[in-house]
Amino acid sequence: LHTVKEKDMDLYNIVEEELQRQRTGIEMIASESYVPTQVLELQGSILTNKTMEGFPGKRYHAGSKVIDKAEILGIERAKELFKAEHANIQPHSGSNANHCVYTAILNPGDTVLGMRLDQGGHLTHGSSANFSGKVYNFVSYGLNRETEEIDYEEIETLAQQHRPKLIVAGASAYPRVIDYEKISNIAKKIDAYFMVDMAHVAGLVAAGVNPSPVAYADFVTSTTTKTLAGARGGFILCKEKYAKALDKATFPGAQGSMHLHVMAAKAYTFKHAMSQEFRDCMKQVVKNAQKLAEILKENGFRIVTGGTDNHILLVDLRPKNLTGAEFERALEAVGITVNKNMIPFDPEKPLITSGVRIGTTAMTTRGMKEKEMVEIGHIMNRVAEGIEDHKALEEIQSEVLVLSSRFPLYPGYFE
Ligand code: PLP
Repeated sequence: LHTVKEKDMDLYNIVEEELQRQRTGIEMIASESYVPTQVLELQGSILTNKTMEGFPGKRYHAGSKVIDKAEILGIERAKELFKAEHANIQPHSGSNANHCVYTAILNPGDTVLGMRLDQGGHLTHGSSANFSGKVYNFVSYGLNRETEEIDYEEIETLAQQHRPKLIVAGASAYPRVIDYEKISNIAKKIDAYFMVDMAHVAGLVAAGVNPSPVAYADFVTSTTTKTLAGARGGFILCKEKYAKALDKATFPGAQGSMHLHVMAAKAYTFKHAMSQEFRDCMKQVVKNAQKLAEILKENGFRIVTGGTDNHILLVDLRPKNLTGAEFERALEAVGITVNKNMIPFDPEKPLITSGVRIGTTAMTTRGMKEKEMVEIGHIMNRVAEGIEDHKALEEIQSEVLVLSSRFPLYPGYFE
C-alpha cells in the first residue's frame, strides 16, 4: 500500500496546506464543522469500491449482503435519532435530498411556496438560477420588515392566493426557531404537502436543543454536515405512507448508484449524534452563538433579530460603515473565515452585501466555549475598527494563531 505522499506529491501538498489552514484558522462559516476522525476514516474506506443500486432486499448488483447491513444500520439509526417513520439515507447531498422529494410528489410546472434566497432560504427552494426555480413554479415568502423574522401571515396569504402543492420551510441563514406547527397548519388548510429542509439545524434538533419538525412535516430533508457535524451527504425522513414514492424518486428517479463509503459515515454520524458528548456540544454551540452576539452588540454591531436561537448570527455591518465583502476579506486576512451575507432587505448586491453570516459549530466542535467567543468578538471588532491598519491586522493575525493553537485539530493526522 502506497500513501498519497508516495504517489502524488501535488495532491499531498494540497491536503497538507489545507490541513494547516484549518488548524491555524478560526473557522466560522455557518455550514462547517470539524467531523470526528471516524467519519474521515469511513469516507476514505474500501466501501467506495462497491457499486450498488436499489434498496436492501431489492438490489440491482450481486454482492450486496455486507453492504445491506450498513444501509439498514444507517436507516434504523436515523429513524431512532429523529423519531421518524421512514428514512432514506441515499441522497448524495442536501440539494439532492430536496430534488428527490420534489421528484416524489411534484410534476414540472407545479406551484411550490418557499423562502426567498435573499432573506435566508436556499438555492433549492426556488432560486431562478437553480433547477428548482426552472422546473417548478416557485412563489416566495420572506421576512417581516420590523421583526426580521419569518412573516407567517405572508405565508398564509400566498398559500391561499396561489394554492401551492407543496410548502417548503427551512433556511440557510436564519437565526431564529421556525414555527413548524404554524406552517403545517397553513399547509393543511389548502391540502398542500409540507417539507422542512432542516439541513442547518439538524444537529440542534437531534440534540433536542432546537424543536423538531418531524411530527409536523410530511418530508424532512437534511445534510449530515453543518450542525450534525458528520459525513458530507444528505438524507430524508418521511411518514411511512410516502416511503415507497420517496424511495422510487431517489432511485431510479433522481440518483444512480450509492456512495457507500459516505453512507457508512452517515450511519456513524447518526450514532455519534445520539451521544451525551454530542448533545453537550450542541448546547454549547448555541451558548457560544449567543455569547458572540452579545459581545458584537456591545461593540456596536447590529445583530439581525437582536440575537440567535441556533448556531447562526447575521451581523449588520452598516453601523461600522463596512460591507460584508470588506469585512469578510479583512477577517480572512487575519485567519478568521466567515461569509458575506445579505441581511434582510439589504440594499447592497449579493456579491457585496451589508452583512456577514457567522456560525459557531466548527469552533465548538473543536472545544471552544464562551470565554473564546468573548476573545473572538473583541478581535472581530478590532478588525472592523482597524481595517486600514496593516500593522494592527498583523498583530491580530498572530493572536488568532495563538488562540487556534490552544485547540489542536487532528493531532498526528496525515503525517
Ligand atoms: N438546504 C439548506 C437549508 C442548506 O443550507 C444547504 C447548504 O448548502 C443545502 C440544502 C444544500 O446542501 P448541499 O450543499 O449538501 O447540497
